[in-house]
Amino acid sequence: MNSGRLKGFLTSFTSKSTVRELSLTPEQSERLQESQLDSVSDFSTIIVMAGLLNTLVIMLMFGGGPLGNLFSFWAISQCAVMGYIIVSRVRKANSDLQNDVEGRTKRYVRGATVIGFFWAVIPLMAFPVGDDVQFAATGIILTATMFGGVLLIGRIPDAAMGFVLPILCGTLAALQLQQDPRNGLLSVLTLVYGGVLYFGARLAYTQFARQKLSQEALEEQTQVIGLLLKDFEENASDTLWQTDIDGRFAAMPDLFGTSPQTQAENSNVGKSFIDTFKPDEASTLLSQHMRAQLPFKDVVVRSNNETKRWLSVTGKPVFEGGIFQGYRGVLSDVTQARETEERVMFMAHHDELTGLPNRNQFTTELNTLSKDKSDGVGDWFIVWLDLDRFKWINDTMGHDLGDRVLEAVAGRLLDYVSQQGIVARISGDEFAIVDHTEDYRTLQEYVENLLSALSEPYSIWGNKLNCRASAGVKVLPSGYFDVNKALKQADTALNDAKSRERGSWCLFDHRMEDQIRAEHQLEGDLQKAVENNEFRLFFQPIMSAETREVVACETLLRWEHPQRGLLTPDMFIQFAEENGLITRIGSWTIRNAIEKAATLHPSIRVAINVSPLQIHSDGLVPTVVNALAQSGVDPARIELEITESVMISDTEFTMERLLQLKEIGVRIVLDDFGTGFSSLSYLRQFPFDKLKIDRCFIEGVETDPDSQAITRATLSLARALKIRCTGEGVETPGQADFLQENGCDELQGFMFSRPQPLENLGHLIQFNSDADETANQDVVVPLADNDATKRRKARSKSTRSA
Ligand code: C2E
Ligand code: CA
Ligand code: CA
Repeated sequence: MNSGRLKGFLTSFTSKSTVRELSLTPEQSERLQESQLDSVSDFSTIIVMAGLLNTLVIMLMFGGGPLGNLFSFWAISQCAVMGYIIVSRVRKANSDLQNDVEGRTKRYVRGATVIGFFWAVIPLMAFPVGDDVQFAATGIILTATMFGGVLLIGRIPDAAMGFVLPILCGTLAALQLQQDPRNGLLSVLTLVYGGVLYFGARLAYTQFARQKLSQEALEEQTQVIGLLLKDFEENASDTLWQTDIDGRFAAMPDLFGTSPQTQAENSNVGKSFIDTFKPDEASTLLSQHMRAQLPFKDVVVRSNNETKRWLSVTGKPVFEGGIFQGYRGVLSDVTQARETEERVMFMAHHDELTGLPNRNQFTTELNTLSKDKSDGVGDWFIVWLDLDRFKWINDTMGHDLGDRVLEAVAGRLLDYVSQQGIVARISGDEFAIVDHTEDYRTLQEYVENLLSALSEPYSIWGNKLNCRASAGVKVLPSGYFDVNKALKQADTALNDAKSRERGSWCLFDHRMEDQIRAEHQLEGDLQKAVENNEFRLFFQPIMSAETREVVACETLLRWEHPQRGLLTPDMFIQFAEENGLITRIGSWTIRNAIEKAATLHPSIRVAINVSPLQIHSDGLVPTVVNALAQSGVDPARIELEITESVMISDTEFTMERLLQLKEIGVRIVLDDFGTGFSSLSYLRQFPFDKLKIDRCFIEGVETDPDSQAITRATLSLARALKIRCTGEGVETPGQADFLQENGCDELQGFMFSRPQPLENLGHLIQFNSDADETANQDVVVPLADNDATKRRKARSKSTRSA
């Protein structure tokens, strides 16, 4: 057998076969090899001592005989090889290779095989020269060496086989070389020994491997159990419980929040199991199960003492010899989980700030009401409320103060509603109530008193704040009703109230729905209008108050709706702002207005209305710059009209944007002056080029002293701040005169012209001769049919000449 096959034979029947037999994982087999090496290393001193002893005995027997020199050479070389193996092993053990289990095992096998070959030559040398005693002694030594070798290095089966096989073969060969017929028997005996050694070694090794594996498994289990126990101790939320036949505690768990002492003093042993839980549906279920001696699982009950813990109870009846002995089970404290769950549930259905039900919850409650509402308690109705100045309070005074206002409003509403009434916060500054009254007259009283309760000043952090609300009311039909529809109708009524007058209320009426439907339709059409280019620009002249000549034109947007005809901005601008189309429409307006400006006489400015949303759009400045560049219009001829609402939110950003526009050279005009909240502060914050006094003041200047006072004050303020003024909505010569006398610079209104397509204004407006040959050129035509204007003009001319 050559060494390769010998090796194959050794490994196939030893460690590898064991690895296969026990189906070890590579990690397990490596750990096994490691412990093999360890256990063999424990014997290394004995192995060396035994080897030296045997060598010494051989030398004593044969050293002085005929082959004495050969034996001495054998002994010396064997000691040298053993020494070498020991030294190299120690060296390797100290190097980093020490952890290479495979390498260490191989070295062991090699060393054992080399030593085995040394011993294999002994019978070949000794048997021919020895007498009977020496023959027997050699036989004993070889047998002992083989058995001892397997005993000591059997943990590495490959090494044991490498050691024993050469000796076995050497002995057999030596016996056969002797011509003694008795040796046949000895040879058989030797072979039997070999077989015993082989199978014995294999069995011992497999046992060792098995033992090692089960030890490992046990250690692992111990660790897992240790971890579980630790975890259990740390989060000890489960407790075992047991009752007797009568359902009384045999052992009381500490799950009820009692301290260890009180528990010890006042043991619950003997107390009724069921009575420790609050009587409710769940505990009734428990007691039903227990009476029927049925098992139950995860029933959540509440402890019946002041700690009010939530407990999940699982239990099963115990029978011994078929006789009921009581219950045994587990109790878990689920209070924390339950509280978290309840909190999450609450947050899902309530508004965090005010604690009022949110929209979802309100809808749910209305659904219940729609099914359970008993008729005859009077009329039920929904009041949908919207705070009028809340956004302004929030933006100017800060969100914290805004939050306090909302809380105060919630408090007033709760105080106001009846016992059965429900108050909810629907969104930011919108609240809703569902309540009932006796008849319509009281409903009217109800809403009016509610609005006046809300409009009482709120005193918060030393500030007195006024905040009114508008309301939409929907009276609910008797019997079942569609909740979502009812809510929508209340909202519709609210919108109607807001569009009439802030702080008012409106009862829902079906005509409102038709209007809403029409508005929805319009909203849908708006997208198409942009694509189909259905917008037109109308122009309204602005006159110099002094000369009554056109000095500017305001561009006003119109939508030529294919079915509904010409629509004014109040019918669609809001939708365009809501769905974001305003930026596209706005850019179109700016481009067209500036393009048209190029066709007008250079002395005529063009005013363009800019929506607050456009101001925030990044496209605004580039659009203006490009349009100016393309048309070659002097930027100073372009006026951008903005309203105060632009200034309310994100004032800093707006200021920056307005300054950017001013840097381009265009003028910034404050439109609808006087209708906002604190116009004066804005006038100081930004250098406006002009302000336009709102039509609502102009309307009354002939008769109403208040309107006169406001208009005068505004005009003198503008003069002081060196800001020009335009009076809007001038319809009568009296209004025009009043404005002119009080120093208003420009006038705009139906008295001079309604907004029109530019081509219809040829009688009023001077066109640019270079740009438009067809336009009426040099003459500025005054309003021909207006005598008052003629008189004004005459007067102003005479004043100038005077
Ligand atoms: P505004 O800027 O205050 O425009 C003046 C409005 O008053 C115009 O209404 C005009 O027709 C009307 N008006 C002018 N003189 C008189 C008068 O003597 N008596 C009466 N009763 N009304 C007069 P219009 O064209 O319906 O525009 C309404 C609003 O729509 C404008 O108010 C402006 O805020 C907005 N708007 C108009 N065009 C545009 C636009 O292109 N873009 C944006 N964002 N808004 C626009
Ligand atoms: Ca305007
Ligand atoms: Ca205006």
